[in-house]
Amino acid sequence: MHRRSFLHSAALLALAQAAGNAMTPDAHAAAAKQESNPLLDEWTGPHGGFPRFDLTKVDAFKPAIERGMDLKRVEIAAIAGNSAAPDFENTFAALDNSGRPFGRATRIFRIYTSTMNDKPMQAVDTELAPVLSAFDDEIVQNEALFARLKTVYDARATTSLSPEQQRLADVVYTNFARKGAALDKAQKARLKAINKRLASLFTTFRQNQLADEESYTLVIDNEADLAGLPDNLRDAAAGAAAAKGQKGKWLFTNTRSSMEPFITYASRRDLRERGWRMWTMRGDNPGAHDNKPLIAEILQLRAERAKLLGFASHAHWALDNNMAKTPDAAMALMMEVWKAAVARAREEVADMQAIADREGSGIKIEPWDYRYYAQQVRRARYELDQTEISQYLQLDKIREAMFWVAGQLYGLQFVKVDDVPVYNPDMSVYEVQRDSKRVGLFYLDPYARAGKSSGAWMSEYRTQEKFRTEITPVVSNNSNFVKGKAGEPVLISWDDASTLFHEFGHALHGLNSSVNYPTLAGPSVKRDFVELPSMLNEHWLPTPEVLNRFALHHKTGKPIPAELVAKIEKAKNFNQGFSTVEYLAAAIYDMKIHLAAMPDRKIDAAAFEKQTMAEIGCPSEIVMRHRPTQFGHIFSSDGYSAGYYVYLWADTLTADACEAFNEAGGLYEKSVAKRYYETILSVGNSVPPDKAFRHFRGRDVDTDALMRDRGFPVTKS
Ligand SMILES: [Zn+2]
Repeated sequence: MHRRSFLHSAALLALAQAAGNAMTPDAHAAAAKQESNPLLDEWTGPHGGFPRFDLTKVDAFKPAIERGMDLKRVEIAAIAGNSAAPDFENTFAALDNSGRPFGRATRIFRIYTSTMNDKPMQAVDTELAPVLSAFDDEIVQNEALFARLKTVYDARATTSLSPEQQRLADVVYTNFARKGAALDKAQKARLKAINKRLASLFTTFRQNQLADEESYTLVIDNEADLAGLPDNLRDAAAGAAAAKGQKGKWLFTNTRSSMEPFITYASRRDLRERGWRMWTMRGDNPGAHDNKPLIAEILQLRAERAKLLGFASHAHWALDNNMAKTPDAAMALMMEVWKAAVARAREEVADMQAIADREGSGIKIEPWDYRYYAQQVRRARYELDQTEISQYLQLDKIREAMFWVAGQLYGLQFVKVDDVPVYNPDMSVYEVQRDSKRVGLFYLDPYARAGKSSGAWMSEYRTQEKFRTEITPVVSNNSNFVKGKAGEPVLISWDDASTLFHEFGHALHGLNSSVNYPTLAGPSVKRDFVELPSMLNEHWLPTPEVLNRFALHHKTGKPIPAELVAKIEKAKNFNQGFSTVEYLAAAIYDMKIHLAAMPDRKIDAAAFEKQTMAEIGCPSEIVMRHRPTQFGHIFSSDGYSAGYYVYLWADTLTADACEAFNEAGGLYEKSVAKRYYETILSVGNSVPPDKAFRHFRGRDVDTDALMRDRGFPVTKS
């Protein structure tokens, strides 16, 4: 299982309102005549235009975003104050067409806060986060605007709107209502204050985590202490040490991409424990970067906001707009899988303990041993060694592989271009084409560096649309690979290769989008549907078609041997107990803490973790995939809060969708790929997700497919 964050920026931001400090239309016209501004200007140039990273300066963000807000205020005031009777065109369509300079500036701003977040950038983020939140509420709370939207929304079924227009009215109106557009003045003021404070807390949460990832490191000065570590990890650590002025030593940073391989391979148990403790304590250390007080306040504010909006809890509010609809439905699915996963994890621990006992080490398996001994079991049982597989997984080749699959399934070609500016020289840019016609642009930002968020994600620089003119999407994939020696291929793990395919699935969702209105485009779907295209895309990595062509040995260039592929296939469900338990422990925690939160209750996130894990019987050898103080999915934005379950929800859809391909003859079955493209991948949120899935599968989802996919027993009838 591969759980990645998908940063889902602008469609949700695109909510808007006029205010007292709006410029007059004349002032607007005068301002527009001023010299050009690379953050606000339309994206021009070859390939359909692109953001001017070459002209982007950190100190330009604040004035540009403020000006963008003013420009948008004028547009919103015009929509809200229109003397003509409200109709779809002068309300919903006009709103979708508004705020374009603001949208461009904020998207580049979000790209910088996730990938170029140095100290000056953090200061701008800290200052602007509450301002942007208040601007969002200013638009949502514009009474005249909401009244006009409501009039058109109420009449949507009886006026001659297309299905997509009705859908847009539904989605946008619901969004306004969910954000409190119908509340009274005092409630609105309180809501705005809550959101502003939350925006600041989210920013500080993210910065605290980054601080702990950058300030704590594991430095090794004796080569013997590297026992067990493969060469590529040693080389990368030597490079990292040299870069920090510690030549001759080995430095491991406090991020997933660095610590996970370390605790998988290091045979020095004390060093594994030290690394594991440092890594899992991110944000949980006493002092200035402790995230626990922030979490307590975030939970209180969310609970208060949910009450204001008429919901029993933040979880009820969050789920109301998802496929799952209620926390109960999400919990039921999680607990069904939880039992099977814990049972499997206990078997895995027993296997590992047996190996440790045979070694005569006298140890009891602890969390910092899990990955290490799982690796031993994998070797013993499947004669499968992760480092052996990595010899065949070159980053560049895996990238080519995902491009190739997108060509086979969706007819896409990726042509590398060198005339598009990037914000870091290690990035590459591709023009995406179908039948030699431009579909969009794809940016790849592969390597870890200071100021970049950890993990892997997709972001949308520009959203597809065609309701005014045809605008092609611009998307990116971001990951944190450790850069190897100059001129040598970067070897990655099987899990990393899977992650690349996952994020690329999100990119394909953005690139294949073919709707009219940008609010409904590509990945702007419900949160528990958005992981379907990404998780489904992971399934093409282990196919012989990919492995034989692209899993080439980094020295000999020879394709991966058939017997190794057979071993990978045989070991497919190995360690599913661990990965499912660590994920579900986090997802259940997320739901439970958002159900338990109350406006007047200060919850200690770590104590609640302990209590919850005891309650659900989490094996002591496994901790949450993201411990609370580093759980950015749920505490660095509202994004996945009471929503970490979505990966499991989407995986039930994914497993079932995968069976649709296999029933028809296999994953490269063109007719199924075409149907998938037409019913799901290209329609974005213009069709409700349950309906879209039914169009693809011919029926509702069969959740047993998930249990079969993970090799768990299917217990219910
Ligand atoms: Zn994802």
